[in-house]
Amino acid sequence: LGQRISNALAMVNNAETIDEKVLDACLKEITTALLQADVNVKLVMNLRTNVKVRANNADKGAGLNKRKIIEKSVVDELSSMLSSGLDEKQLVDLKKGKPNVVMFVGLQATGKTTTCTKYGAFYKKKGFKPALVCADTFRAGAFDQLKQNATKMQIPFYGSYTETDPAVIAAKGVDEFKKANHDLIIVDTSGRHKQEESLFEEMRQVAAQTKPDLIIFVMDGSIGQAAHDQAKAFKDTVEVGAVIMTKMDGHAKGGGALSAVAATQSPIIFIGTGEHMDEFERFEAKAFVGRLLGRGDWRGFVDKIQEAVPDDETKDDIMDSLNKGNFTMRILYEQLANVQKMGSVGQIMSMIPGLSNSGLFSKDKEKDSAARIKKFMTMMDSMTNKELDSSDIKLWQTESRIMRIARGAGVHPQYVGELIGEYVRIRTMIMGPGKGKGKGIMQQMGK
Ligand code: GDP
Ligand code: MG
Repeated sequence: LGQRISNALAMVNNAETIDEKVLDACLKEITTALLQADVNVKLVMNLRTNVKVRANNADKGAGLNKRKIIEKSVVDELSSMLSSGLDEKQLVDLKKGKPNVVMFVGLQATGKTTTCTKYGAFYKKKGFKPALVCADTFRAGAFDQLKQNATKMQIPFYGSYTETDPAVIAAKGVDEFKKANHDLIIVDTSGRHKQEESLFEEMRQVAAQTKPDLIIFVMDGSIGQAAHDQAKAFKDTVEVGAVIMTKMDGHAKGGGALSAVAATQSPIIFIGTGEHMDEFERFEAKAFVGRLLGRGDWRGFVDKIQEAVPDDETKDDIMDSLNKGNFTMRILYEQLANVQKMGSVGQIMSMIPGLSNSGLFSKDKEKDSAARIKKFMTMMDSMTNKELDSSDIKLWQTESRIMRIARGAGVHPQYVGELIGEYVRIRTMIMGPGKGKGKGIMQQMGK
């Protein structure tokens, strides 16, 4: 889905002039793709109308870039579709001082048990008193798995090795934790490999016994087209109120997201980005659409820097320089310095696809990344102004230059090579392979 929408936008980007015909062709491709992904017809038609209106308004405005406006309105529309008029805040911000019962549902191996614990740990940090109930009697070892996760995160748990009725365990667990004044009681349920009536019947019974305040449907982010049926089957069974997409750390772009939201009429509230307990993030529609369309959230990245370093003029300078087609070594240096100031390397870097998994910024090794950034900056400190302000790659083909910097920074020349390699890679990603060849993030944004 993301690829198709991307291609449709490319039609606009590559056209000499953007007339009615080009825009219609682009919108036709986007709407067809969305309809085939089972996104609600009304939502799709809304998207088409709104993008057209904004594009036509662009004709009237002076100096506005039509390409950029079309792209931006498609992204905006997709983002609002993903949070489709639902009161996400209310769902996400559980009520303090009352027992919130939250039930997790989904097929087997989608990540329910893992996500339950991540969810509990997330709210524990926010001052809630979570507890976990294992209502999975279908899979052997389910209780042990939950116990292990819960213990690691120091969250109380409840389960049974002997009771075979999940609804009975769920009811007992919820009851017990209510009495113990827990304000977030999470019920983990079993799954099946396929959508089976026995599973749905079980979900109905567990829900009837526990009367959850919120039911969260957990979905594997890589399932794509199947998302609609799966989500709808659960929605038809129990009152699904929110969606969590897991395994967004792999190659999954989350093409099923729109379908799942449409099928459940519920927002996506979190995404899982790894097996570890802290690999769990609030869902951000705009960033998600960016990823879906294979674009970096470069502007978001720059905004984030501005936020963290408010009285710094770097943002304008960076945009200015990027607009002129110069991604210099100095820009990289300043970015790295900002990232250091902000503390969380992983969060910032994950906003830019390609960077999050690069050798420089390894997500699960944040400390290593920080050390590498420091090393890189030490090497850059040994560069001359001319070297920092040039974006000419040929400069780095001189061996004596590399040797001089290595000596100055007290590192093996191999590391200087790595830094240059990383610079070239990032520069190519942002500016494209060369003058006029296009396709870098800046060109995609319709610079
Ligand atoms: P359940 O059967 O729905 O309870 O799923 P589990 O919680 O047991 O998870 C199934 C597998 O998916 C386990 O190996 C988890 O470690 C893994 N998993 C869960 N969430 C994520 C995620 O966000 N990313 C990745 N890479 N793996 C995940
Ligand atoms: Mg499980």
